[in-house]
Amino acid sequence: MAEMVCIVCPRGCRLTVDEASGAVTGNSCPRGEAYGRSEILDPRRVYTGTVRINGAALPRCPVKSSAPIKKPLIMDVSRQMDKVTLSSPVKRGDVAIKNVLGTGVDIIVTRDM
Ligand code: SF4
Repeated sequence: MAEMVCIVCPRGCRLTVDEASGAVTGNSCPRGEAYGRSEILDPRRVYTGTVRINGAALPRCPVKSSAPIKKPLIMDVSRQMDKVTLSSPVKRGDVAIKNVLGTGVDIIVTRDM
């Protein structure tokens, strides 16, 4: 059994997940059940970070992944972002890296700069 706190909403239900069957208890809604099961079977996170940008008022531009990425790949994505330098101007929603590490997920700019 794995125990965790559901982070889908501020209520923070304490979940227990049976790793063998994927059965979830302690959730107050279906979103918690989906979260608990996914944390055991295929944990993912939205990547957030910054990348260098030339020609803007600030030296770094905030970015995030367009969808959750498999948790074990997050550090690799972070290292990939160290190699990126954008050029101003960029608009919120612009793609900084398409299909990062072959995940099918894009890294997008989250601020006009
Ligand atoms: S189980 Fe539902 S109510 Fe409880 S924290 Fe998760 S999303 Fe919120």
